[in-house]
Amino acid sequence: MTQHTEGQEPETSADRLDDLRSAIDRTDRELVDVLARRLALVDRVAGAKSAGPESIRDRDREDELLARAESQAREAGVSAVLVRNVLEDVIAHGLLRQAAHVSGLERGGAAVRVAFQGAPWAYSHIAAQAYLAGRGLEGEYEGHRTFAQAAAALRAGDADLAVLPIENTTAGSINQVYNLLRTEELHIIGEEVVRVDHCLAAPAEVPLSSLRRVLSHPQALEQCAGFLATLPQAEPVTWFDTAEAMAAVATSGDRTMAAIGSRTAAEAHGLAILRRGIADQEQNWTRFIVLARDPVRFDPRVPCKTSLILVTRHEPGALLRCLSVMSNNGLQLTKLESRPRPGRPWEYMFFIDVEGNVADEAVAAALDLLKSEALYLKLLGSYPVKAEPAAARAPSVARPAAVEVDRQPDAAETAPAASARPAPPASSVYRLVSRASRAEDTIVRVGNVLVGGTGFTLIAGPCAVETREQIEEAAHAVREHGAHVLRGGVFKPRTSPYSFQGLGFAGLELLVAAGRAVGLPVVTEVLSPEQVRPVAQSADLLQVGARNMQNFELLRELGRIDRPVLLKRGPSSTIDEWLAAAEYILAQGNGQVILCERGIRTFENATRSTLDLSAVPVLRERTHLPVIVDPSHGTGRRALVAPMAWAARAAGAHGLIVEVHPDPAHALSDGDQSLTPAGFGELVRGLARVPGPAAGG
Ligand code: PEP
Ligand code: MN
Repeated sequence: MTQHTEGQEPETSADRLDDLRSAIDRTDRELVDVLARRLALVDRVAGAKSAGPESIRDRDREDELLARAESQAREAGVSAVLVRNVLEDVIAHGLLRQAAHVSGLERGGAAVRVAFQGAPWAYSHIAAQAYLAGRGLEGEYEGHRTFAQAAAALRAGDADLAVLPIENTTAGSINQVYNLLRTEELHIIGEEVVRVDHCLAAPAEVPLSSLRRVLSHPQALEQCAGFLATLPQAEPVTWFDTAEAMAAVATSGDRTMAAIGSRTAAEAHGLAILRRGIADQEQNWTRFIVLARDPVRFDPRVPCKTSLILVTRHEPGALLRCLSVMSNNGLQLTKLESRPRPGRPWEYMFFIDVEGNVADEAVAAALDLLKSEALYLKLLGSYPVKAEPAAARAPSVARPAAVEVDRQPDAAETAPAASARPAPPASSVYRLVSRASRAEDTIVRVGNVLVGGTGFTLIAGPCAVETREQIEEAAHAVREHGAHVLRGGVFKPRTSPYSFQGLGFAGLELLVAAGRAVGLPVVTEVLSPEQVRPVAQSADLLQVGARNMQNFELLRELGRIDRPVLLKRGPSSTIDEWLAAAEYILAQGNGQVILCERGIRTFENATRSTLDLSAVPVLRERTHLPVIVDPSHGTGRRALVAPMAWAARAAGAHGLIVEVHPDPAHALSDGDQSLTPAGFGELVRGLARVPGPAAGG
């Protein structure tokens, strides 16, 4: 800081307290003006920088500036640590403004509508205000009862942003928010870190010994357990959130009541603060994420981090291989959090933060390589890193001039690691599905059944779910004969609009219940992108029917969820078109795809379709994905199903999907090609005579 003398107040002999206080007020006012001038200069620098290629952040210049200020502080007899801390916060703030400037986050002066969870002045509200203030933006804030409701408001367009807590340094991760990130198509565009500084507040200045009840969120009560133990006469009472506890105490006016929460909330409700800093852990911080409906593409010069969800393959060492892909390709991991995979006991998904921005080609290419190693990858967003507040950071140590601590080695300096996979040829219409990107077979897990490799999976059941009795009987029958997965259509793609169209979601409930009763996972077809998420809530495997093989919107939506997909071949598609369709799903991040040959249209009319069994060995050569065969739709005739099933196994298929109906003569669809339970039993027995698939291509 420069040495100003003109602002200094002459000492008067009276030195009255009031005079001194108003002198302090004037000095503070000057501080604010100086800050405003500095930020205006920073904004002008941002304008100058948007033309050039250099990074928004110049760490060398920051270090020089801080060192100079420290020595000026010492000369002026002010604490160097204080000056460094203040300046570091000012620099961090300036960086965020610059990031907002080059990313077009400003909204032309209109207030940004922000959804958060909790009552006004909850910590989430404070975080939202800090986020917008850091970008020079005005906000309109709305609190919601639950995290899901805040997210829903954003999705519905009632808010522009949602600010939700993701982790706390004492309490750990906030599971519900992680779950929302998994299920919702929302994008992280920023983060904010707020210090949780609990205070005790009451309607009036009263002695602590007169308090009888202390209201707060259970987590806050727990965080202040040590302090509360010193007030044995006051009973801790759990409340919906800290800010509402403050509101309740204020409304009651009861002088024996107090609340624990933020100072901001206490002040907003006109409460007297009895004690500050009452948490057991002095350092208590919460990290919030800022969500938007659409991703924001931040300028590659803004220091960013990228958050993603990763599901590893069902193989030993799978996580380690994903981590190696990251480190071998220059992705610096800054966070790895493992969470249970919903509906899959003892399986885990990983929430990962890496340094970098997907707008940067090298980062995008590295993430592509990671996609071929992972079973599922969801990109949550690339967004500017929030510089940690000074108090949360380890004390800085002077850097010896000869050692550049932060410098990353150039690509040329790093020998390529032996395990780095060669990038598949870029000219091809598919890359991730290709054997070139992965030599080993992919194993896809459907419920507790592993499909692919040297296993042989039997999927069986009726063409369509018709009644509870019908699907229950079919489930028992196919289970009895050794099926591993139960099939049943509930949204039927029929050639004629006058044919039975399926029972819809009511049918799905019947299918899932029947599968559960006999311990089988279930597969059903989805026809549109809107059906994908609701069906994925309960079905274990989602089928794309032959007619929809190139419904790219449907494929893209299936690529965004963490559920396996059965992709049938289009009746007039080539194998490469089919693989390119599968690529749509993998390219979005979902590697759990099973291919199903179900016959193609040729001039031959003795069968419903021509079952192209040569596609099986061709696919085994070209792709690592599992391949199964549907001899029911492939032939259209009951008598041909078993022989073609056996032939499929001989050709190297990883399994079958077969239509079985308890009473084929009265089936509402595809009765002619449906096996009776006994016929299915015969088919299964015959399979034992045929050698199964070998591993690899
Ligand atoms: C089905 O399996 O129910 C079905 C409709 O098959 P395809 O899409 O192969 O005609
Ligand atoms: Mn059918």
